[in-house]
Amino acid sequence: MSDARRDWAHKHSTAIIRENQAVFVEDLCVRGLARTRLAKSVHDAGWGMFTRMLEEKAARYGRTFVKVDRFYPSSQICSRCGVRGGPKPLSIREWTCTACDAVHDRDVNAAKNIHAAGRAEWLNACGGAVSLPS
Ligand SMILES: [Zn+2]
Repeated sequence: MSDARRDWAHKHSTAIIRENQAVFVEDLCVRGLARTRLAKSVHDAGWGMFTRMLEEKAARYGRTFVKVDRFYPSSQICSRCGVRGGPKPLSIREWTCTACDAVHDRDVNAAKNIHAAGRAEWLNACGGAVSLPS
């Protein structure tokens, strides 16, 4: 691990924690960043180290940090009605829910689901009665 990579991870994890009251990440997955200019940097820095830093800083700043199970099929579930469609090849960027006809951008829909699942797990941990859609 080079110092430059460590610096990058420190800088960005601090910024994310400062700007967000709650942080939800999909475990071991850079899907949400795959099409942004941060993607390569996150890969270089190491996703594991980056999420560990986020977790530590969230604790230090009193933020909520939730890791969503990596097997949660975030790209298959309709973020509007919760119906789970089939697996979608990565080449499919946009799809229409067969149940409610909502049209989804693949990444935006996945991000909404990760956020919802993270929130559900957080509420569960606090004694709420929220369950993940299956
Ligand atoms: Zn739907």
